[in-house]
Amino acid sequence: MGRKPKAITLAVDEARIAGDLRKYREKAIELGATRAKIVQTDEIPVDERVTMKCQIPLCFGYGVSANCPPNTIKPAELRTLLEKYQWGVFFVKEIPSGVVVRDKATIKERVAAYQDVYKIVNGVESAAFYDGHYLAFGFGAGSCRHTFCGLQEDCAVMKGTKCRFSLRSRPSMEAVGIDVYRMVISAGWSIYPIGSDAKPDEIPCGVLAGIIIVR
Ligand code: SF4
Repeated sequence: MGRKPKAITLAVDEARIAGDLRKYREKAIELGATRAKIVQTDEIPVDERVTMKCQIPLCFGYGVSANCPPNTIKPAELRTLLEKYQWGVFFVKEIPSGVVVRDKATIKERVAAYQDVYKIVNGVESAAFYDGHYLAFGFGAGSCRHTFCGLQEDCAVMKGTKCRFSLRSRPSMEAVGIDVYRMVISAGWSIYPIGSDAKPDEIPCGVLAGIIIVR
């Protein structure tokens, strides 16, 4: 898939958008997604209880980066935004359970796995942009505070300077209130609750997810 920009048109016919969405689903797989599907934006479950879970129990990422609650888009704002779009591509990436369970010994692999999710989001979002879907945007997984700035003392944006990874970091799906568990299950895929007491040998795999809202 090249990056040659296509002329922007205000309307797109059904055949063109269907072809583009199929291409983005394939691109997500090419970039490393385990599974990907085309979704309609009115199927995306947005729920305030998801962002409540950033505070109870308190997540390490809460309030410490520009892309995490309470600093990012609120669920109510996202619902309004999604009404202006119709199509997106949702994907999951399975990772070994020993990598997803929080353990200092696997931190490098875990950060790399989360970065891989952002590479898929960035790649598909960029392809959509250059195809003329210039309002496309995406969400990843986890907190950019750890995924991109884990070795830094702070989030640059929270200090009033520019994001160190502005073209790569995004809010996560869960940070804006998307019920990722519900989306995965509704797609017919499997996902497991992995908390701080999780044991890798009791979980088949870890599942990270991302979404690109195309048009
Ligand atoms: S500077 Fe780092 S922590 Fe802050 S928004 Fe950018 S990537 Fe996230």
